Amino acid sequence: MVDEFKTELVAPCGMNCNICSGYLAYSRNLTRKRGKIIHCIGCRPRNKQCAFLKGRCATLRDGKVRFCFECKKVPCASLAKIDARYRSKFNYSFVGNLMTIKNHGIKKFLADERKRWRCKKCGGTISVHNGKCYDCKIITSWAG
Ligand SMILES: [Zn+2]
Repeated sequence: MVDEFKTELVAPCGMNCNICSGYLAYSRNLTRKRGKIIHCIGCRPRNKQCAFLKGRCATLRDGKVRFCFECKKVPCASLAKIDARYRSKFNYSFVGNLMTIKNHGIKKFLADERKRWRCKKCGGTISVHNGKCYDCKIITSWAG
C-alpha cells in the first residue's frame, strides 16, 4: 500500500506517474503481459523527462525547465495535444495539473491527487487510465 505519492513521479508535462497504469503495474509487481500489462518506473526516473514531449522539445531535453509551466511557450502545441487527449479520454488535464503546481505547490497538488485517486474500499491507488484500484482489483489490461 502506498500512503504518499512521490514528488519525483510528477513529470514535467504535469502527468502524475503515481497513478499511471504502467507505474502501478511495476510498483505492485503485476505479471507483465505483452501489450496488456506494461511496466514503467515513471518518466523522471527513466531519465527521459517526458516520453511524449522530450523528443520534440529542446528545452526539456537540455534540462532547462523542471516543469513545462516554467517555459514561455506553455502550453506548446505538443503539450496542448496530449492534454486534449487526456482530457477527453481520461478526464485528466496536464495543463490543469501544471497550474495547480505553479499556484499552490507540488505538496498541495500531490495531497489533492492522493485524495482523488484513493480507493474507497482499501485505501489503495486507482489508475487514471482504467479507473481500477491496483491494490484490490484484478488487473488484466493497461486501459481496462
Ligand atoms: Zn482498492
